[in-house]
Amino acid sequence: MAELRLYYILNDETRLKEFLTTRQLIKTPDSIHTCPNSRCRRPGRLKWSRRTRNIGPANAASRKIEGEDDRSLLTMRCNACKTYVSPRSGTFFAYADSSGRANVRLSYQRVLLIIFHWAMNRLGIDTIISLGVSDHTVVDWRRFCRNVCVAAFQQREKMGGVGVVVEVDESILHGRRKANRGRLLLGDIAQSSWGRDDYVPDVDDLSGSSSESDSETTPDHEECDPLRRNNGAWVVGMCRVSFYFDERQQKDRRKSEELRLFQVDRRDQRTLHELILAELEPGTIVNTDEWRGYNGLGSIGYHHNTVNHSEHFVDPVTGAQTQNIESAWRPIKTRILRVMNGIPQDAMPSYLAEIWLRSRCKDREAVFNRFLELIAQQYPVDGG
Ligand SMILES: [Zn+2]
Repeated sequence: MAELRLYYILNDETRLKEFLTTRQLIKTPDSIHTCPNSRCRRPGRLKWSRRTRNIGPANAASRKIEGEDDRSLLTMRCNACKTYVSPRSGTFFAYADSSGRANVRLSYQRVLLIIFHWAMNRLGIDTIISLGVSDHTVVDWRRFCRNVCVAAFQQREKMGGVGVVVEVDESILHGRRKANRGRLLLGDIAQSSWGRDDYVPDVDDLSGSSSESDSETTPDHEECDPLRRNNGAWVVGMCRVSFYFDERQQKDRRKSEELRLFQVDRRDQRTLHELILAELEPGTIVNTDEWRGYNGLGSIGYHHNTVNHSEHFVDPVTGAQTQNIESAWRPIKTRILRVMNGIPQDAMPSYLAEIWLRSRCKDREAVFNRFLELIAQQYPVDGG
């Protein structure tokens, strides 16, 4: 969805209602719901209604300036007992905030725009400024967005299969540790990177994949020592690639179709084999570098090609290469390291899942549309 089209919808209540209901993002008036009123509990249809809400005059004035209805809220009512039913209860739009309160203060318009900005990969600070929302709000909603990605990622099936090429590589992400990072510095709006396109972590942190790393010769038991490695995290990447013929340039090209990333404690053979067995269908053509952790993939059901990076980019015999996954590391590192400086490690999987979702979409508008589909799947609105 293009931005102008989105504003066309958001600026008209009828169009907004239709958008939200046809995309199954909020309860739909036509379907049957059980009334939440404990003395009613009757199944019935809901109808659109307006509810006066109690907000301070300053708040009301500022909302009016922004074109939002000041005192009344678009809501639904039980036909039988007239109890108000929020069309967003139980949906993504009523997500609880970090303190556990249902966050329903934001208008649909603002929530949709926060999602849209996130899908477009805009900086959090741009969302804060252009939508007039707080940093906490943006941090919270972006976390909700990533959680949707995590839930979708957990539904994945094995990829690959006979004749399908998947490049596998592993890389260490290690950022500078910063003391005194507070709540305001969470996530991708970490203060050090606010509005700064040129923000790049230490050059050392971007020093390529394992093939260039000195740890190639380090024994496994040392690699997993978090203190020694400057709190680095090993990430294994699996990139499914497809091949096509570029008519204009008259040559064969390869394209990344899906990128799966996993944080691992170590990159020994056992870890890598277990991960590959869990993710890749038997018969998959697995391209890797010559790291010994990949040894033996041929004996567990895969067609294994290795590329010797010290001599070639493309193996002269098999034509195997790992350039798709290798070129993916740099943007991943820039993004993740910015995050690692400010948030706990346990949030990492959600960022990796976000990168996965993006890898499945052809462009950012597709990310927005796909994301709305995921919300509809994960927060079924009707029948409740
Ligand atoms: Zn009722």
